[in-house]
Amino acid sequence: MNRKDETCIFCKIAGGEIPSETVYEDEDFRVILDLGPASRGHALILPKGHRKDLTELSEPMCGKAFFLAGRLGRAMMKELGCAGFNVVQNNGAAAGQTVFHFHIHVIPRYEGGPEMVSWKPGETDSAEQREIAERLSEGLLL
Ligand code: AMP
Ligand code: ZN
Repeated sequence: MNRKDETCIFCKIAGGEIPSETVYEDEDFRVILDLGPASRGHALILPKGHRKDLTELSEPMCGKAFFLAGRLGRAMMKELGCAGFNVVQNNGAAAGQTVFHFHIHVIPRYEGGPEMVSWKPGETDSAEQREIAERLSEGLLL
């Protein structure tokens, strides 16, 4: 049984209580078109169960969601004629998440389309990189 949050709009959309432009549905996921698309065909992969972000997703669900993103990207290139696609997934308000029910954005990218999903490379040094790598290694073991 998928857990639900009564106040969550994506729970209602994923569960079919609120209608959406659905591209794909199975027992675990619904794929819909984004209402405010970054480009033509921008889609969202939503789990049917409420998970606030990636930190709450199980390994099999992660696998299934990412596999779905690849299939969707392939369909976008074939059917919509995009030249590539971005897979974007925001976790936390600081990272741009506005709906706190896990979702993956799959965004078609067209030849000559606008610049998006990019950053200016920063600077670092090897000591700082070493310290960060060690801290993250320890954190992963917890
Ligand atoms: P994020 O900023 O990563 O949390 O993305 C939330 C996305 O959900 C945005 O791209 C919105 O355009 C989209 N969105 C919000 N409400 C709806 C809705 N009712 N149906 C489809 N997409 C929505
Ligand atoms: Zn939800």
